[in-house]
Order: sequence, then structure tokens, then C-alpha cells
Amino acid sequence: MLSSHGLASGTSARSAGRAPAAALRYARLCSARTHSRSSRLAAAAVAAERLDAQVCVVLGTQWGDEGKGKLVDILAQQYDIVARAQGGANAGHTIYDDAGNKYALHLVPSGILNRNSTCVIGNGVVLHLPGLFEEIENLKKKGVSVEGRLKISDRAHLLFDLHKEIDGLREAELAGTGKQIGTTKRGIGPAYSSKATRNGLRVCDLHKLDTFADKLRKLSMDGEKRFGAGFSYDVEGDIEKYQELARKVLPFVTDTVEYLHTAYDDGKRILIEGANATMLDVDFGTYPYVTSSNPSIGGIATGLGLPPTKYDAVVGVVKAYTTRVGSGPYPTEIFGDLAEGLREIGREYGTTTGRPRRIGWMDIVALRYSCKINGLTHLNITKLDVLSELDEIKVGVAYKTPDGQMLRSVPADLETLENVEVVYETLPGWKSDISAVRDWKDMPQAAKDYVQRMEDLIGIHCKWIGVGPGRDALVVKPSMGKC
Ligand code: GDP
Repeated sequence: MLSSHGLASGTSARSAGRAPAAALRYARLCSARTHSRSSRLAAAAVAAERLDAQVCVVLGTQWGDEGKGKLVDILAQQYDIVARAQGGANAGHTIYDDAGNKYALHLVPSGILNRNSTCVIGNGVVLHLPGLFEEIENLKKKGVSVEGRLKISDRAHLLFDLHKEIDGLREAELAGTGKQIGTTKRGIGPAYSSKATRNGLRVCDLHKLDTFADKLRKLSMDGEKRFGAGFSYDVEGDIEKYQELARKVLPFVTDTVEYLHTAYDDGKRILIEGANATMLDVDFGTYPYVTSSNPSIGGIATGLGLPPTKYDAVVGVVKAYTTRVGSGPYPTEIFGDLAEGLREIGREYGTTTGRPRRIGWMDIVALRYSCKINGLTHLNITKLDVLSELDEIKVGVAYKTPDGQMLRSVPADLETLENVEVVYETLPGWKSDISAVRDWKDMPQAAKDYVQRMEDLIGIHCKWIGVGPGRDALVVKPSMGKC
């Protein structure tokens, strides 16, 4: 059975769980910050440094919530199209506009805040239409219109309330067994199951509402057979609702494969926004404690129909520490006051569910594995500011099995992973607020050394360093290696 305490077998992780009282003071400091200071100027400066990549992919490299939305939002200013390839409303991006307004996006690509971008929801996404329109309404209330700027794949699978119902019932069945996945209960897994079982419904089915109704009834009968009286879903009510939803969504529906390829051939710049992250990938993550799609590079190709030969840059977003929501092994997990302090400073609560995130040190073994799988060209380290008050910072650099074997990579077997001892390096903290730093040369030396160590361990340029939640709170490291 997996218990969170069983996960961090490295004693150094536990002994590192002491409280920095200063951390909580720093949390107050952070929450008092405003996000809008000089953001236009700084965002413009970042935008001015145009990334030399017609197609750029941004991926989460850890367990999600790395802060992908912020980089996508910043880069979107340089791109004509911003596309989502996989996942559903379980992915939440929190971004702030120039005025400091907060937006929590779940299905709509983060590029929507850049009025010049067109957003694409690709075929690999599972789409809950009522949720999508709620999000669109919320954006409208904040003055952001999607009209003419949102394209939805006709091949995307629809996620119905019945999938949410099944998600809840499956988690309930696992309750008390220690095997609950800890899903967001948004129906994502069941929707991908329907897709793989080949009884799912796609956006293009909304063109023929008679056959749509028949297919949905069949899908509902499947749920009834599997879960009996516990299955509560008003299929006829939903069929009725989808008459109206079909009318609303069809103006956005496009053959996005054709759209993207034509745009590419016309020289348009395309930014692809990953959701979730590699350590939650259904193939490469800590299965079964994973999401149901491929948030790594392969899922981008299958979720959009734009092949990997067209990707010029693949940026991995890496939090300066780690977090994870839900169950599953987490070797560098930190417990106690230190974890609580970092959770408060980093505001580590789920965008979608509000659940407190588990907290851990940087895990280089997992990150290297993720870099290999994704073929990353650049890294964006986020939330470096969150570590600012720590005396020392640990970095997990290797896994050791109980019989003393050093593991080169993340093992597939969860029991092996649960029992590894993490070998840590300890780096000095910089003990000063870096949230106002905007230029690499103004970074405290210890913060530079921390980033440099990441680069040395991973071998990929840490080009962008996040020092706060705002659009402006970004430092560009000019080149790879010491500078
Ligand atoms: P995503 O799903 O990967 O986009 O991540 P989330 O949006 O769930 O979480 C990222 C959170 O971190 C958001 O609230 C961001 O505003 C915030 N964030 C992003 N980058 C930074 C950073 O460099 N420092 C701080 N303090 N917060 C950041």
C-alpha cells in the first residue's frame, strides 16, 4: 500500500523538514506584492526577444502545476496561434494580465489573453462543453472575447457528465483500499476510456443530432450496466441540453489538422501549450497514479496532427522545487513545517480543485528522465522566488535502492520507487527577496549558482527564470553555462 510517508525513504528528506520561521514572514511579504508593477515594459522586453522557433512546444516536466500558463501567456505575444493538444479541464493554468487581473483557465488555451492569437483546442483534448461555455462566459465578463479566435477540432472527444459520474464512482470503489488515484473527478479518465473503447462521441457527431442521441444512450447504458443503481445520469436531459450546446459550439468547430498545416505553410507561428506533465503521463509517469493522456511530446503530435519534425523548440517548465497533487510515489517529498511554509509561500493549492499540493525538493533523476523523453531544447525554471528565505536548498541527484544499487533513471515499478533513498546535494540559499530582479546580472550569486547547478546537472539551457507570478517577473539567462 502506498502511504505518503512510505514514499520519501531518503532520511535526508525527512530531516530536512524543519521549519524556517522566516518562510512564513516571507509568505506575508509575497501576498502583499502587486503583480502589475512595470509589467507592460517588462513583458514587452521579453516579447522583444523573439524566440527563433516557428513552432514552439511548452511542456510540464514534473507532476504538473509548474507554471506553464505564465510562460505560454508571455510567449503567446510572439505567436499567431496557441494550441492545446491533450487533457481536459483537469489542467488549470493561472495567469495574470498586465493589470494584475487573475484568470484561471481550464480548457481555453492561455493564448486567449493575447488578442492577436487564435486559440486551437486539438483532437487530443477531451471536451466538456458546459464547462467550456462557463469558461468562455467568465472570460467575457472580464472583457476577453473568444469570437473568431477559438477553433475546436471536429475530432476532439466529448466529455459528458456521465464521465464525471463514473470518475466519482470509480474513486469511491477504491476508497479505503489505498489505491485511489486522487483524480480531479472531472471525468477525464472515463472520457479517454470511452475513446479507447471506441464508443465515445466526438465533436463532429454534433452535426447529426439523431445519431448523437442514439450514441449517447448507448454510452449511458454501458455505465448503467457497469455501476447499476449507483449510476445516476439523466441521459434524456443531457440529449436535450446538447441540442442547444451543438448550436453554440458548431461555429467554432474546424478541421484543425488542415487549419494548422495551412497556417504553418503560410509562415504562421504556432505555440503549443502542454497540460499536466511528464511524470503524470499514462505511459511514462508513476502509473497508475497518472493522468489518462500523454502530456509528453508524443501526445502533442497525436493531439494536434502536427508532426515532431516541425517543432523548432521544446521548452520544459520546471518548478525550482517540486509539487504533486493526489496519490503516488514522490521520492523527494518534504513533510512538516518546511513543506507547509513552502506551500503557503508558493500558494500551492490546485487551480481546479483547491487541494493542497504535496511539496518536495527538486528531483534531478525525474527531471533528466523527463528531458530525455521530451527532447527539450530549453528550460524555464519557475518559482525560484519561493525558495528565497531558505538557509539551504536540497537537490535530489540520485536514487539508491535499499541494497545499495544506484539507479540511473526512474524505475517503472512503484514499489522500487517508493523504497529508494534519495541522494541529495545541498546548496546555500540566497536569503534575499529576488522578486524585483529582472536582469540576470542582478541575481544574487547563490541564486545564480542554483540555476547554474540545474543547468550542469541537466545539460539544457535554463533560459527563463520565474521570480514571481506576474507576467513581468521573469529573468532571462543570456546563454548556457556560466555567465
Ligand atoms: P500550470 O498549470 O503549470 O500553469 O501551473 P499553475 O497555474 O497551476 O500554477 C502556477 C502558479 O504559480 C500560478 O498561480 C502562477 O501565477 C504562479 N507562478 C508561475 N510562475 C511563478 C513564479 O516564478 N513565481 C511565483 N511565485 N509564482 C509563479
